[in-house]
Amino acid sequence: MTEPHQELPRVSLGGQLVPVLGQGTWMMGERPERFREELSALQLGLDLGMTLMDTAEMYGNGVSERLVGEAIRGRRDEVFLVSKVLPSHASRAGTVQACHRSLRRLGTDYLDLYLLHWRGSVPLEETVEALEGLKASGEIRAWGVSNFDPADLRDLRRVPGGEGVATDQVRYHLTRRGIELALLPESQARRLPVMAYSPVEQGRLLRQPVLQEVARRHGATPAQVALAWVLRQPGVIAIPKASREVHVRENRAAVEVVLDAADLAQLDRAFPAPTRAVPLEML
Ligand code: NAP
Repeated sequence: MTEPHQELPRVSLGGQLVPVLGQGTWMMGERPERFREELSALQLGLDLGMTLMDTAEMYGNGVSERLVGEAIRGRRDEVFLVSKVLPSHASRAGTVQACHRSLRRLGTDYLDLYLLHWRGSVPLEETVEALEGLKASGEIRAWGVSNFDPADLRDLRRVPGGEGVATDQVRYHLTRRGIELALLPESQARRLPVMAYSPVEQGRLLRQPVLQEVARRHGATPAQVALAWVLRQPGVIAIPKASREVHVRENRAAVEVVLDAADLAQLDRAFPAPTRAVPLEML
């Protein structure tokens, strides 16, 4: 595989310019025998410019954050670091405590972006107040949400400080296109980037024959086509998780793949865009 030469395009998120291609870390750091391999994969991703790193207190109960902390040691300034608070911790005091625990595991004194992992039973007012407090104290630079549908986002914007939301991180790939109806166009209109998680459907998508066919035409791989498809939209950031260096290199080079009208039409036929609202699915 050739080394990527094209700079990663950037979008504005929470007041910073971030690469449209980042690195997910769910289920990483959980197997001691794979720790070194996963660490090198994340560090290679950083070397290649995929400096947006997504983790969460939930992932392996903190082990993913520890791995990320190890990966960014000595190079914190290069990284746009994202973590998430569990809804069950998202009370006024609980959010602050959870953030402090994440910071300790990550070995840093600030997060670039802190997300509410999904909407729970704590009133949004409380969580937003805590997030705004963390922002004021400099412990986070921006905050956002995850798995919020358009109605949740409307509720959020109605609470004091709710307009401060910087992004919504949602499940988006060729076989789940529900956000194209409302969430994505509404976010684009507000110039709020959407973070697409599971962009290669955890690997399942890659076996689809149509993806393989498009990939062959481009001399690319199915994963690269899946990522190029997600990234075809303005204001979308993809955060594939790759714990193997070969996958990291491959994903980084996905920005070189430009899908043309014929590719997109073929993919649309195989994976039609929704024509009516479908509930937002989460993992
Ligand atoms: P994903 O990124 O769609 O898929 C990850 C899987 O695909 C891994 O098994 C990985 O293998 C494989 N893979 C990656 N690149 C590949 C390539 N080029 N060729 C072949 N296989 C490849 O799924 P995900 O981990 O669910 O989502 C990505 C990230 O989004 C997560 O890690 C997490 O940070 C975030 N996320 C957020 C939420 C939320 O609720 N906010 C939910 C789910 C995920 P290897 O590991 O073996 O390289």
